[in-house]
Amino acid sequence: MNDRTLIIGGGITGLSAAHQLHRQGEDFVLLEASHRVGGKIAGGPVEGSALGFNVDRAADGFLAREPEMSELCRELGLGDDLVSPASGGAFVWVDGALRPIPPSVLGVPLEPDDLSAGGIVSPEGIAELRARGFADHPGLVGDTTVGEVVRARAGDEVFERLVDPLLGGINAGNADDLSIASGARALADAARRGGPFIEALRSQRASAVPGPVFHGVKGGTQRVIDALHDELSDHIYVHAPAVSVERHGRAWRVTTTSGHFDGDRVILTTPAFISAALLEPHSPQAASLLSGLVYSDVVLVTFVVPTEQVGHSLDGAGFLVPRDQGLLMTACSWTSSKWEHYDDDNHAILRVSAGRVDDRRWLHLDRSVLVDTLRQELALTIGLRGEGVTRVTPWRRSLPQYLPGHLQRCDQIDASLARDTPGVTVTGASMRGLGLPACVRQGSTIG
Ligand SMILES: Cc1cc2nc3c(=O)[nH]c(=O)nc-3n(C[C@H](O)[C@H](O)[C@H](O)COP(=O)(O)OP(=O)(O)OC[C@H]3O[C@@H](n4cnc5c(N)ncnc54)[C@H](O)[C@@H]3O)c2cc1C
Repeated sequence: MNDRTLIIGGGITGLSAAHQLHRQGEDFVLLEASHRVGGKIAGGPVEGSALGFNVDRAADGFLAREPEMSELCRELGLGDDLVSPASGGAFVWVDGALRPIPPSVLGVPLEPDDLSAGGIVSPEGIAELRARGFADHPGLVGDTTVGEVVRARAGDEVFERLVDPLLGGINAGNADDLSIASGARALADAARRGGPFIEALRSQRASAVPGPVFHGVKGGTQRVIDALHDELSDHIYVHAPAVSVERHGRAWRVTTTSGHFDGDRVILTTPAFISAALLEPHSPQAASLLSGLVYSDVVLVTFVVPTEQVGHSLDGAGFLVPRDQGLLMTACSWTSSKWEHYDDDNHAILRVSAGRVDDRRWLHLDRSVLVDTLRQELALTIGLRGEGVTRVTPWRRSLPQYLPGHLQRCDQIDASLARDTPGVTVTGASMRGLGLPACVRQGSTIG
């Protein structure tokens, strides 16, 4: 028996597993298909811009109240570079104006009166929030969709104008289909408590650990990947896509396009559709459960423009766009306002997202039409004048959609693998959480 762990996939989950094994002095290798590790954490220059620094191409921050990612940064010597957003307030684009989002838990306002002046929700919608939010509801049992819970407890308008855009910003999904247990735990906990929903959210907020809600890393999230790469480079193989996982005596053999590796444990941290293909010969049940997971396609277009070409103060973290507002963009992050390390005093850095699980329009646009359309929408929403420099980063099949019952399906996958392929496990964004802290937690636990 070869006492070695084979990690397939070098995103943050695989790297966290490797980091843990490294700390424990274990033998392991990490096999990554592409030319670089990091997966959906990536940064780089905006070519042609005058910025003297790299900008994130995807994840730029993470929840601080789930401590695992912040802890990992500290372990890697980046503790002093953990920062909180300089500007936390956010807006929503409704009926031709940017309107401030009032204090809320995942979009559900804690005080209905806060909506009165905003124009996000009609007076009828506010009355509905008040009536439903303070009514006595039975405690939620089991799992269902966010839409089912929130529409009943806060009304359709609050759901469609605030909750769906916010959750859609996180997973590019449709909150009418999203599992509340897997995709909106704070709302699930409040609904489980029963009674008035807003009261439950208020007491949740009151008992929250003080401190920042989000962290970022000065210089960009890619720095975490660079630090992990430096630590683990002797064990990392890039350009090494796993093409099969086979039994080899009492151990496992992972074959890549350039060779094979033997070990007694295999940790798959690849997207579900890749893991499913690798596991199909050994555990059809696990493979079938994994291949049922749907992914959304998103694109992130970064605009760098002279500050004076923006007709808005950009005083906030950015804005969200509800699906009924007729725009292609789903959100715009005011990156140079949100993070001090991206503010060079001269440029606005705007990261614009498009694409949802049920909105794939951007995929059918050629690059110049995509950029022009988003530029026109920036002119409309924040008064952008001029062209600026742009960078287009497509993320195909990138964000898994957790449907109700997702966690039970994860348990079934674990049970099938324990029965069919002892020593082989699946973890990462396809399983128990797609945010960076959840991925680090999963990788470190399994490592
Ligand atoms: C645009 C965007 C913005 C995001 N923003 C945030 C954010 O701000 N905050 C946050 O917390 N989360 C954010 N997320 C989510 C988060 O970044 C991801 O869920 C997380 O990085 C996934 O990590 P992972 O290691 O599980 O998977 P991945 O990053 O997908 O890593 C899997 C790795 O497996 C490799 N691979 C694939 N096939 C093979 C094979 N056959 N053999 C070997 N290797 C293979 C891939 O190349 C990849 O490197 C964002 C995601 C996207 C797409």
